[in-house]
Amino acid sequence: MIRGIASEGEIRFFAAYTRDTAEFARKAHGLSPVAAAALGRLLTGGVMMGAMLKNDEDILTLKIDCDGPIGGLTVTADALGHVKGYVKNPEVDLPANDKGKLDVGGALDLGVLSVIKDEGLKEPYIGQTILQTGEIAEDLTYYFAVSEQTPSSVALGVLLDKDSGEVKQAGGFILQVMPNASDETISRLEERLSHISSVTSFFEEGKTIEDMMELLLSGMDHHITERKDCGFFCDCSEEKTEGMISSLPKEELQDMIDEGKEVEVVCHFCNKRYLFSVDRIREMLKNK
Ligand SMILES: [Zn+2]
Repeated sequence: MIRGIASEGEIRFFAAYTRDTAEFARKAHGLSPVAAAALGRLLTGGVMMGAMLKNDEDILTLKIDCDGPIGGLTVTADALGHVKGYVKNPEVDLPANDKGKLDVGGALDLGVLSVIKDEGLKEPYIGQTILQTGEIAEDLTYYFAVSEQTPSSVALGVLLDKDSGEVKQAGGFILQVMPNASDETISRLEERLSHISSVTSFFEEGKTIEDMMELLLSGMDHHITERKDCGFFCDCSEEKTEGMISSLPKEELQDMIDEGKEVEVVCHFCNKRYLFSVDRIREMLKNK
């Protein structure tokens, strides 16, 4: 991903190419095409919004609670390009929308987007907005306008291969107008935005996120201030999972032992499975 500024700081921009991130999520969670598109878009938004965090330890969570058949989505990102996420119903299957595209808006339907920033303060920042279209990019645009008072243009795209179902292209950008921006800069940016209709078709032409920013900001001075790798990363581990089980009340551990079966814990975020034998649970109980 890249970030930068344009027009002497009147505009800041973020852009990310997230094919591998979205494909990792699709495979790990066994996502249906529409779920892969929805989560891929939110992961892409998460990567870029994570880069807006102030400190390396800060955590951003994007949570969508919705009425549609996907049930909800959660994405967590940090400032270092790490992102992870899941959907409630990974198998959601819907016919294409009237434009012949994967119906992400239909999968989400009505709902609420919560943006939670844990910046090491006593209370995390929470901004909540109503979903506008459920297509995610518009919902993030609305969030920035209403909750952060920052006019923004957000584009997110995930293209799947029709035959293999794999993610072929994924990525997006966020352009934000800073409070000092002149009307002239804003109208020039609006005009430039009409030059990109779909980020994935742009990538399909073999172009990069740098090319995309070049096209969008042409005629304005602009430069990239940061580049970094981004990707799906889950920090779950056997050790952490063991710690979690060990912290359960003694009676619950005893119940697990009495049941006499291996205990399976599945990580929500990456779907990794951890197995604990009865003997290990007994050991944990003894050490309590
Ligand atoms: Zn995990």
